[in-house]
Amino acid sequence: GQPGSSAASERGPEAGVRDLNMYIDGDWRASATGRWIETKDPYTNRVWARIPEAGAADVDAAVRAANAAFSDGPWARMTASDRGLLLHRLGDVIAANAQVLADLEVRDNGKLMVEMLGQMKYLPRWFQYYGGLADKIEGSVPPTDKVGMFNYVVHEPIGVVGAITPWNSPLLLTVWKLAPALAAGNTVVVKPSEFASASMLGLARLFAEAGFPKGVVNVVTGYGAEAGRALVEHPLVERIAFTGSDLGGAKISEAAGRQFKRVSLELGGKSPHIVFADADIDSAVKGVISGIFAAAGQTCMAGSRLLLHASIHDAFVEKLVARMREARLGDPRAADTDVGPIATEPQLAKVLDYIEIAKAEGARCVLGGKRASDPRLGEGWFVEPTIFTGVTNQMRIAREEVFGPLLSIMTFETDDEAVAIANDTPYGLAAGFWTTDLGRALNLPRRLRAGTVWVNAYRVVSYLAPFGGFKNSGIGRENGLAAIHEYLETKSVFINP
Ligand code: NAD
Repeated sequence: GQPGSSAASERGPEAGVRDLNMYIDGDWRASATGRWIETKDPYTNRVWARIPEAGAADVDAAVRAANAAFSDGPWARMTASDRGLLLHRLGDVIAANAQVLADLEVRDNGKLMVEMLGQMKYLPRWFQYYGGLADKIEGSVPPTDKVGMFNYVVHEPIGVVGAITPWNSPLLLTVWKLAPALAAGNTVVVKPSEFASASMLGLARLFAEAGFPKGVVNVVTGYGAEAGRALVEHPLVERIAFTGSDLGGAKISEAAGRQFKRVSLELGGKSPHIVFADADIDSAVKGVISGIFAAAGQTCMAGSRLLLHASIHDAFVEKLVARMREARLGDPRAADTDVGPIATEPQLAKVLDYIEIAKAEGARCVLGGKRASDPRLGEGWFVEPTIFTGVTNQMRIAREEVFGPLLSIMTFETDDEAVAIANDTPYGLAAGFWTTDLGRALNLPRRLRAGTVWVNAYRVVSYLAPFGGFKNSGIGRENGLAAIHEYLETKSVFINP
């Protein structure tokens, strides 16, 4: 029973609960462990599906299938141009199934339907872009210093890639790995988050429909400590592409390091969002809102530390609070909903904890500050959009990633002070600032220690632009031209004719 198909099996613990099987070697399978993980709808707090709880034997089967597809068979023999065409076809199939995929992810994760449909329209671009690159991976012929010797350099796929992804944007963040990995000729085993695997299983069905040979893409579901760990430690997995928390990243990095595995890590953030006194205030208010309250703050690039020039602080906060008071919490499927639920129960508890921590640290709560109590929201996992002023950069809510609709506001007097506060964080994923001063717009990005800087904008990402973190926000880059080299080995060939 693959998700999205009407034939999905209905033998869950409750009527109407669907069992979503894993995709291994072109087959739909339950786990050899016989165990299942229940998955709840964050809007209703009700179980709607179960996913297999994979163990090491399931992971081994998936890795062996991927390794077989890499070493021999139609994928291994396919020309790069044909691989590119296949990726293009997948893009078309995704576009034709946008609504099915969006339904699955909204149900699983609570993301707004409008946002999800936008994402689904955009998703095919990754496959088209990297599909186009597949047959443009060129080698070189360096000069040699050995008389009579000939040397050429080629780039080859690495082998089996293990992709491990978080619950907050399951499809998008997996596609960032799949598209370049496949374009380069690798095969992949995906281990999505135990909290949100349904949309990835829906996407797996489309690989088959687009005509990918079996074993090229496999999906195993289950817990990080078991299925994830087995994937990282499997000797046939050559490279790990991880997006998730810094804690998970550290564990994976250690395990991969012991086996000298190639690894990329996209981790958390505590991104500064700076508004200078000369900014277009109305645009900045909108940017700040989308930066922290989109997806209820559950984005790695959330602009969670707002730095306001002292001269505009009071007016800015007043506008921001007035606008967010109007924000409508509700059904993520409804077109008039502005803020949806928190995606998982542990995350709900974590956000509520941080609200109490902020209050105890002496920050001033000027909006929200509790679980939403509106009876219209039922048992949904909603937290009121929450704003704290009077925050100092030493407080825990300014240093630790909350991953929820919680904004911490600080003030600054000079540009130097703004830069110092912005950079005073273990993270370095993103930063944004608003100004109408051209000199500042040109000079400040150089001084901000972050992988992405937005000027008079926030939360813009593209398949064309490298994305990744400085400092504790990660290692490596996804997206853009260079990302394909993250999935290639370089080989030097010397010939003595
Ligand atoms: P997480 O680290 O708990 O889990 C991520 C994935 O890793 C899951 O699939 C999990 O099962 C797996 N995992 C956990 N421990 C593992 C282990 N020891 N071995 C192998 N796999 C393991 O993260 P999460 O809570 O799902 O996601 C939220 C985090 O992701 C936030 O910190 C957020 O900032 C980060 N994130 C980063 C980016 C980015 O691009 N930088 C994007 C989105 C989310």
